[in-house]
Amino acid sequence: MLVGILGGGQLGRMLALAGTPLGLRFRFLEPGTNAPTSVIAHQIVGDYDGPRALARFADGIDVATYEFENVPLASVRQLQQHCPVYPPPAALEAAQDRLNEKQLFRRLHIPTAPFVAVNSRSELDEAVERIGLPAVLKTRRMGYDGKGQRMLHTADDVASAWEALGDVPLLLEGFITFGRELSIIGVRDQHGNTVFYPLAENTHQDGILVRSLAPAPDVPGSLQNRAEIYAMQVMDTLDYVGTLAIELFQAGERLLANEMAPRVHNSGHWTIEGTETSQFENHIRAVAGLPLGSTFPIGSSAMVNIIGTLPDAARLLDIPGAHLHLYGKAPRPGRKLGHVTLRANEPETVAARLRELETRLRGA
Ligand code: AMP
Repeated sequence: MLVGILGGGQLGRMLALAGTPLGLRFRFLEPGTNAPTSVIAHQIVGDYDGPRALARFADGIDVATYEFENVPLASVRQLQQHCPVYPPPAALEAAQDRLNEKQLFRRLHIPTAPFVAVNSRSELDEAVERIGLPAVLKTRRMGYDGKGQRMLHTADDVASAWEALGDVPLLLEGFITFGRELSIIGVRDQHGNTVFYPLAENTHQDGILVRSLAPAPDVPGSLQNRAEIYAMQVMDTLDYVGTLAIELFQAGERLLANEMAPRVHNSGHWTIEGTETSQFENHIRAVAGLPLGSTFPIGSSAMVNIIGTLPDAARLLDIPGAHLHLYGKAPRPGRKLGHVTLRANEPETVAARLRELETRLRGA
């Protein structure tokens, strides 16, 4: 079976690395020439909406999927005329627009921060009036890793935030004072069977994920259940096939959905070594029509992103239980270049090794 993947970044690379042992072959469509997938699978270099590149990509693939959510919806719909595409375009459509996404959560009675769509300066003033401050102003589309966002602390911030973002459709959200950020990752197969990974606890800096602990510490079964129900509702409503991630804020007993990703997710990288079947393998199993594998965690894991500069690999691998993944990307400030997963039987062991790892990553 030949699986076509739109996007040739690290997520695509890890999908192909997980699916190759299952006897599957992979083809990527990706605009960049030195993309992370270029060294491991056949890559068609071209724009996602270039008709010739898309036709070459589609020719002979049995099924298609995508590894990031900003691929053009029209290209995905066109691909559907050649082969099945999973997750379904409706999921992509919802995830590409923060307003659609939040409205979907609201329709399913999944709690979120209060939100209002903003299309003009006067609507922003009304939205601030309704939601109050502090609040977060976000672009509805093409936002990721904290890009396209401004915090509004006081009324003085409103004008500059509008100045910075006001030329595109926006969403104003109430600021949530959360205790921590969690994510739930679920996978649904072509028959509607679902599996879920244990919640991960995520730390962001400047909007970029820097660390995940998994299974997240101190998670009562009721919280895990609630997160799974939210993910299941989203997947069932969309007749979803593949891996889905929902990022959540935990505020006391409350669990609020922030956003969803219709794809494998950075906060699930720990599942490669930390569970029976990784999020990548389960995504590939789902899109290829194979049964899903167990998501059972093997001990405790911590995942740390390598951002901006490349570390000395030997110094990291010297830490027991460390697994290094480098994506083959050129260093650039703020760019995700790789990650390290630490896995051990006891959370205390992981915590001690994590301190060591973060010291070494800082170059100390
Ligand atoms: P996002 O692009 O929506 O994932 O936001 C990036 C990060 O900004 C999140 O991981 C949070 O740390 C923070 N953030 C986003 N929205 C809110 C909010 N409504 N209240 C508090 N923090 C937020």
